[in-house]
Amino acid sequence: MSWEQLKQETIDVGLCTGCGACVAVCPRKQIQLKIGCVDPELVGECKEESCDLCSEVCPGAFIPRSELEEMIFGRKRKEDENLFGQYKEHFVTHAKDEKVHHAGVAGGTVTALLLYALEEGIIDGAIVAGYDEAEPWKVKAKIVKTKDDLLNCVRSKYAICNTVSALRDAVDQGLEKIAIVALPCHTYALRKMQLHKLKRLVDKVELIIGLYCLSQTYMDGTEYIIRERLGISLNEVDQISYRGRLGDPFGGGFWVKTKKGEEKALELIAHWGMVPTIFIGFQVERCLVCLDHTCELADLSAGDVWGREEELKKINEYGWTGIFVRTEKGERIFRGAIEAGYIVSMPGGPIASYYPVNPGHPKKKFAVPARIQYRKKYGWPVPEIT
Ligand SMILES: Cc1cc2nc3c(=O)[nH]c(=O)nc-3n(C[C@H](O)[C@H](O)[C@H](O)COP(=O)(O)OP(=O)(O)OC[C@H]3O[C@@H](n4cnc5c(N)ncnc54)[C@H](O)[C@@H]3O)c2cc1C
Ligand code: SF4
Ligand code: SF4
Ligand code: SF4
Repeated sequence: MSWEQLKQETIDVGLCTGCGACVAVCPRKQIQLKIGCVDPELVGECKEESCDLCSEVCPGAFIPRSELEEMIFGRKRKEDENLFGQYKEHFVTHAKDEKVHHAGVAGGTVTALLLYALEEGIIDGAIVAGYDEAEPWKVKAKIVKTKDDLLNCVRSKYAICNTVSALRDAVDQGLEKIAIVALPCHTYALRKMQLHKLKRLVDKVELIIGLYCLSQTYMDGTEYIIRERLGISLNEVDQISYRGRLGDPFGGGFWVKTKKGEEKALELIAHWGMVPTIFIGFQVERCLVCLDHTCELADLSAGDVWGREEELKKINEYGWTGIFVRTEKGERIFRGAIEAGYIVSMPGGPIASYYPVNPGHPKKKFAVPARIQYRKKYGWPVPEIT
């Protein structure tokens, strides 16, 4: 019955995030998700009458947020914690190593933290987002174990990444201590696994580094930009980046290199640039009703520092990463990375004055609650968040 429940409550009503958790937990490996897509399919038969794992861990239709917060932080959030979730401290940071700093999309802090955790033996691998080898414009979850592999997967990918499905592969490969770079919906799936004591998988998760999330987008948006806006056929694509070439200063635009070595780019925010094209034109349906911007249940959450770019540029033209330190484990690793010289940080306040200009913040905290209210009025699907 449980696959049927997942299908009816999540997939058939447009609430799938494409996280891949159902793929990871199915004991019979009966669920498949096409790379970079939402809406998994049952490939065989779901005969496990006593199993309901796929629907239990799915973050699409139901998030027991208060229960998860009590499990993680030992208490529910207070009213004044609604904007950013529970956290200990907030910092503005960048990787100390120039190569890592310039490679990263903002301050390279996420990559520097992973590098510290790998080199100190805190983790033996990480799940990050890279590109498919055969179709290099498609975003694919990758399991990385070396600095070079980490550096090959820097920068944000804004199309769907089925991140959590790679957890099963990482555990099958024998990894014991895994870090995951996760969007808020990926994090809810991982925390639901923890709540339901899916030990085989989730006990191996040592660290969740969350990314702030405005939205993710359908792969069609990426293909539309490449084909229609840049005039490149997909089979000519050698490499893409949503936020510029490696080494470009903060910001960047959508960049493509062809197999012949030609480079073309679309600006980030300009009229019908990359951001409006994919985030307005091709936003994933479930993202329209998502309330979490700063990955409120991660150990550490990382995002761009919009609203302070000019001020920070005076110190360094390359970017900075905003970090919420949330859990004790996150704090230990963050402090360790500073002490070991992997990241540079300064206090990140006053938060309230610059988050309103971060594009995800007004969307998730003001527009989406209003949208949910109206969707309920018309009987349209919305997730239940308790
Ligand atoms: C879909 C999406 C939406 C975002 N929305 C916002 C926003 O509204 N506001 C904001 O301030 N920041 C947002 N971010 C976060 C921001 O773009 C940077 O990722 C963040 O600032 C960290 O920068 P960094 O230089 O420290 O990361 P880097 O050192 O460049 O490392 C980034 C890490 O994230 C991994 N990654 C990239 N894309 C994905 C993905 N789709 N799923 C899982 N892992 C991924 C990479 O593999 C890499 O390990 C978003 C990111 C994504 C992927
Ligand atoms: S076996 Fe369990 S996890 Fe797999 S499809 Fe059936 S109910 Fe879902
Ligand atoms: S949201 Fe995740 S767990 Fe739920 S159906 Fe979609 S891919 Fe599966
Ligand atoms: S907006 Fe929400 S549902 Fe969409 S990718 Fe981001 S965290 Fe997931």
